[in-house]
Amino acid sequence: MIDEEDDEEVLKKKWSLKTILKNLVLIGLIVIGIAFMYIGGPDPTMNLIIGFTFICLGVSIIQMKKPPKDPVRQTLTILKCNNCGSIEVKNYEEGDFVFKSKGVCTKCAGSLEVIQIYSVKLKKAKDKGKKLEKDKETLKQTIKI
Ligand SMILES: [Zn+2]
Repeated sequence: MIDEEDDEEVLKKKWSLKTILKNLVLIGLIVIGIAFMYIGGPDPTMNLIIGFTFICLGVSIIQMKKPPKDPVRQTLTILKCNNCGSIEVKNYEEGDFVFKSKGVCTKCAGSLEVIQIYSVKLKKAKDKGKKLEKDKETLKQTIKI
């Protein structure tokens, strides 16, 4: 298994490096633009046009919308005991499907059957663990009612 925390660290580093590079390019473009306007070639009109173009490029990069981040998703498998009807929520494993019997009930040792497979969206990767536990509890409550 890959350690999730390490994974997140790598993502964060990649993202910040990208941001720094983007900002550098941006500042560079604007600086070049201003430099052209003030200390360009002999033709002041051309300098103005070139300078303006560079500044426009920089500004349009600023205004570019950041692509929405992929929400962290977690898939859960909801199991129900055939014998006593108790609900168990587990992390989805490959090959899980509805009506598949999977494992043994912790309460009565009856066989568990997959009744539902859920995919939950998690907003913050940081709170993943906490949120997941909370979601599991909420799901359990909902199903019991
Ligand atoms: Zn049971």
